[in-house]
This record gives sequence, structure tokens and C-alpha cells, in this order.
Amino acid sequence: MRDQIIQEYRDFGVNFVPRCEDFTQTIGCSNIGMAEYNQDNDYASYPWFILRGSLCTGFNQTRTNFGGPIPLSSGYRNPAANHRVGGATNSWHVHGRAVDMDGSTVEENQRIYNAMEGTGFIERIREPNDTAPTRIHGAW
Ligand SMILES: [Zn+2]
Repeated sequence: MRDQIIQEYRDFGVNFVPRCEDFTQTIGCSNIGMAEYNQDNDYASYPWFILRGSLCTGFNQTRTNFGGPIPLSSGYRNPAANHRVGGATNSWHVHGRAVDMDGSTVEENQRIYNAMEGTGFIERIREPNDTAPTRIHGAW
């Protein structure tokens, strides 16, 4: 099964090809739920996915700064699923280093964006735009 997922990285021309040992079947990160992290993962029922330690650490620092739970609307994506949802080929989501954080209001999303300050993120984007974000994309 992992060989099949790894082949997707080659087929879609991703700038990273994981090894079997990069995949896990246990979440291994407090405050990130298996189901919400894998909602855009075609292999969620097996369940194989990638979740980097830097993501776990950065997300939890953000959560602490924010002061409470932050729902996720996307986490790990295998390359085929990432392609279907219109993600960039080399999206950090296929690297297991990104989540989309989904505050219920524009104000909450701005607070999440600000809570990422100082967490060592490699990417921080208000989506779909800066003035009325419906989610915050963060990668660590
Ligand atoms: Zn994203």
C-alpha cells in the first residue's frame, strides 16, 4: 500500500518522494485528531499518512498562543487527492507539514493567523484572501 502511495509522488512529479518509514498509522501528536487530519487522504482507511514532528510542534505552539482548540479542515493529502482539491503539486500538505485551520469567523481566523507568530512556520497564508479569510493555511 505504501509503495502505491509513493508511486503517486512520482506520477504527479512532486519534488519529494517519501520512503516507507516516512509513513505512520498512528497520529503521534496531541491535539490533532486522526479523522480531521486525514479527511483529504485517500488512504485514510488503512490508515497510512505522513505527519512531521515540526508540524506537531508548530501547531501546538499556535494552539497555545490561540488559547484553545483549533479545528482543521485539511491535513495530510496524498498527491492524487491534493491534485483533486486544486492543491499545488509541491504543497506542504503532501509533505505532511501543513494543516488548514478553520476558525468559525473571519475574526477567529485572524486570531489564528496572529497566533502563528513566533512558531517557526515555513508558510502562513490567509485563504482565500487577506481581508476575509475562511481558513488559515499553516506549514511547519
Ligand atoms: Zn492548506
